[in-house]
Amino acid sequence: MEHLKALLAASGAFLEGHYRLENGLHALSYYDCSRLLQYPQTAAQAAEELLPGAGRATHTFAPSITSLILAFEIARRLGLHMILDAPPFDEESFRFEPEARVLIVEDVVVTGRSLDYATDWVRRRGGQVIGYAVLIDRRAEGGAYRGIPLRAALWDPISTFTPPQCPACRAGLPLTGAPANYPKGLR
Ligand SMILES: [Zn+2]
Repeated sequence: MEHLKALLAASGAFLEGHYRLENGLHALSYYDCSRLLQYPQTAAQAAEELLPGAGRATHTFAPSITSLILAFEIARRLGLHMILDAPPFDEESFRFEPEARVLIVEDVVVTGRSLDYATDWVRRRGGQVIGYAVLIDRRAEGGAYRGIPLRAALWDPISTFTPPQCPACRAGLPLTGAPANYPKGLR
């Protein structure tokens, strides 16, 4: 965990400011993991933190562009099959084999919406989700998500505020939207 913290700090991935999250709440910090994962060497080191959570997975699946890098690296290291949900992926005809055990990989989890999307995606195609491997878990309470094991390399709960309660709003700091890295806006 300390090594990951050092990587995040060195890459400038931990941002402090005044951010509007996709759920409309405000926050004073934000992890932009694209800053960490744009360098293959540091991306590989970050992915290494997630290997212990891979269990007996046969596949990895990622719900965001940045997490795709982690899913690729985990699959490469462990000899797994990474599912690539991107054009020209044939969504209609793809089915997992009955014995497929899928590890869902995500760089940052705030609300869990992206995990819901990914879990639904896998299950609709006959796959079994055996766990979540998350680089940074920002939920108030860590641990399993909807009854499925979740292992995070770093648990750093986020403080969020409604606009009337937000200290940065009161201080008049300019508000920026959290950088989005996925067009479906699932984070
Ligand atoms: Zn605010």
